[in-house]
Amino acid sequence: MPLTPRPAILRMTPYSPGKPIDEVKRELGLTDVVKLASNENPRGPSPLAIRAVQEAATSMHLYPDAGAFALRSGMAQHFGVRPDQILLGNGSDELIHLLGLVFLSGPQDRMIVGDPSFVRYDAAAHISDAQLVKVPLTPDFRLDLPAMARAADDATRLVWLANPNNPTGTTVTRAEVDALLRDLPANTAVVLDEAYFEFATDAPDYPDSRDYLRDDGRVIGLRTMSKAYGLAGIRLGYGFAPAPVADAIERAREPFNCNTLAQVAALAALADAEFLVESVRLNTEGRERIHGAFRACGVTPVNGFANFVLADLHRPAEPVFQALLREGVIVRSGHVLGLPTFLRVSIGTSLEVDRFIDALTRCLTDLARP
Ligand SMILES: *Cc1c(COP(=O)(O)O)cnc(C)c1O
Repeated sequence: MPLTPRPAILRMTPYSPGKPIDEVKRELGLTDVVKLASNENPRGPSPLAIRAVQEAATSMHLYPDAGAFALRSGMAQHFGVRPDQILLGNGSDELIHLLGLVFLSGPQDRMIVGDPSFVRYDAAAHISDAQLVKVPLTPDFRLDLPAMARAADDATRLVWLANPNNPTGTTVTRAEVDALLRDLPANTAVVLDEAYFEFATDAPDYPDSRDYLRDDGRVIGLRTMSKAYGLAGIRLGYGFAPAPVADAIERAREPFNCNTLAQVAALAALADAEFLVESVRLNTEGRERIHGAFRACGVTPVNGFANFVLADLHRPAEPVFQALLREGVIVRSGHVLGLPTFLRVSIGTSLEVDRFIDALTRCLTDLARP
């Protein structure tokens, strides 16, 4: 090839999606397959968002509002922050890339992530050829903030905390985040990724990135419309940042990174309080049932607060993953997450949860037979 990419680019790995429903149907000759692998909202999008997208569809020959004025002011009001403290992106995945591009300058800079944590953070380091430092979780699968603080030095620009963490669902407390901020060098920022914020408000001493928002502050919050709000396919991520940070991201981003349909869908979804409450209620109910089902099979699930459940089967998870596929249930096999004895299952509708629990119980009892 005449063009050679920068070596750091070859350390980036394309996203590996869960198995597509159609592929599983075709390969296994099944007609009814459920996918519980991508942490989407099983109820679909809010009807208000659907209507807003339908109405805006007639204007899709026009460029989007580059400043996303209506959405930005709506969010500022909804979340009680200023418009110049809001980040908007083509999903929070884009904001993760932008944070790497804007705040890491090369091999002299370091960033710290948990291990395992959200796999897309690695891209922020590689895209800028920065050093990536991985700090193992505690034995109870939580981000180890004291160890992350010890791993930080003056070259450390960013520390990434997914709270709840993906793939474990575990949370860190406000007291732990406060201590981390005290222990980190003054020029190190913390990214508090709250992709599952709405599901976790009952977690003990659960922090909110907005409470750290000061223009001279060091905390950047990331959130998304993809999970609780059910808009994963249309792509709208957002965040809260000190105004100077938000200003730098504004300069670096593409002008039309939030498309017209995503802007109107997000604004409409935010206004549907009832949809959000019901989604969270259904999720908490499903989570408790799935936790119970794992326990009934002799497996202790990780104590998570997101819209998925992670469990250590204490044996290779791949055969169980395959057995569940044959039952028409797609989950995440732990080996893609660096956890070969674990399964991660997204919490579906109550019927999908029934289906998963039946299949899991059958698979684990069959496999236990000599
Ligand atoms: C799903 C997820 C995101 C990305 O969401 P977008 O769809 O890109 O907005 C970010 N962080 C974590 C931890 C996630 O699980």
